Amino acid sequence: MALSFIRDSVEVSRGDLADRFGLDRKTVSRIVGGLLEESIVELAGYREIGPGRPQELLKLRGEWARFIGIDLGATHIIGLLADLNLKVEERIFYHIRPGLPVQVILKQMKAICDRLCTSMPAGTRSRAIGICVPGFVDPRTGVSELAENIPGWQDINLRDDFEQSFECPVLVDDSSRAWGRAELRLGANRGMRDAILLDAGYGIGMAIVADRKLHRGSTNRAGEVGHTVVQPGGPRCACGNRGCLEAVASGRAIAAFAQEGLRNGKSELLLRLTKNDPGAVTAQDVAIAASMGDNFSVDLLRRAGVGIGLALGNAVNILNPSMVILAGGLVSRNSVIEQAIIEGVRASAMPGLMEQVEVVTSELGTDGSALGAVSMAADTVFAPN
Ligand SMILES: [Zn+2]
Repeated sequence: MALSFIRDSVEVSRGDLADRFGLDRKTVSRIVGGLLEESIVELAGYREIGPGRPQELLKLRGEWARFIGIDLGATHIIGLLADLNLKVEERIFYHIRPGLPVQVILKQMKAICDRLCTSMPAGTRSRAIGICVPGFVDPRTGVSELAENIPGWQDINLRDDFEQSFECPVLVDDSSRAWGRAELRLGANRGMRDAILLDAGYGIGMAIVADRKLHRGSTNRAGEVGHTVVQPGGPRCACGNRGCLEAVASGRAIAAFAQEGLRNGKSELLLRLTKNDPGAVTAQDVAIAASMGDNFSVDLLRRAGVGIGLALGNAVNILNPSMVILAGGLVSRNSVIEQAIIEGVRASAMPGLMEQVEVVTSELGTDGSALGAVSMAADTVFAPN
């Protein structure tokens, strides 16, 4: 409890701890003495409060331990090594081809963990590993139940597998929720109380923050905004249904529409970017072509953005958040899609609800989920809150 308070306050005095937990000075001195002896907290400076002795301030000692975070997406694996204050010391990015066999992906993830372990300063060891994957995840069992966008990925007990390989605690959660956790701990939005975070990349997910906590739902599956139906009878989605938001507006859908357009001669520029191979086109190529003024690509992104925005506005109507955070590879540094999303939200959220909502873009770039994963690992040190 005291440790979580020090973490969340950044700098704290013994008096602050006594006030916060209603403890007497002697008890606080004993607790802090133990933490200083263990080197998990250190002196951060002094606070002058009128005459008398200045108060000693305490903060977490980041180097006390190192943690690993792994973010598996449909097209990437990101690995981070960070200290107790979540200061990132090393980052590894692997691009993966959609359709890679499950065993190969698992091997890559372990190879990244191995490399991060060897990067740790001598004498330190990883206290825990956090892993996030898209789709259905049960954090209590550590089983990744289903990731529709990773073919063949089903019922994989990541916790058991990685605990056996690395002999440390392993935490597993869904990537969008991991991003929400990162925003709560590290983002510009750490003070948020009720918020929704849209995570748009190859797939589309959502994290819901209710009363400063992540909302999980009865079976840990809350936030599947990507599988809300927006076009009945529309394109087939990876989940088996038709016309889901993901099937019409995700990175995967944008690539599919672009491919079809290229086969019909819609954009010379985009075709050149794919080296004349329409089958190789990605949403990122579309974003590059759009930034170069390609009308076909701008139109694809705009349509996807408005679709995402409409679904997001519906979520605003249902959940009444004070903040909407736009995140994920699709919105990161992409003003066309970002503007279209905002336009869509304004069109579908009720005026009485929209006026109260602040729409912001995540400042965590493309590493939000990976940071959330490393934060899950570091949180094993603290009391649950
Ligand atoms: Zn679906």
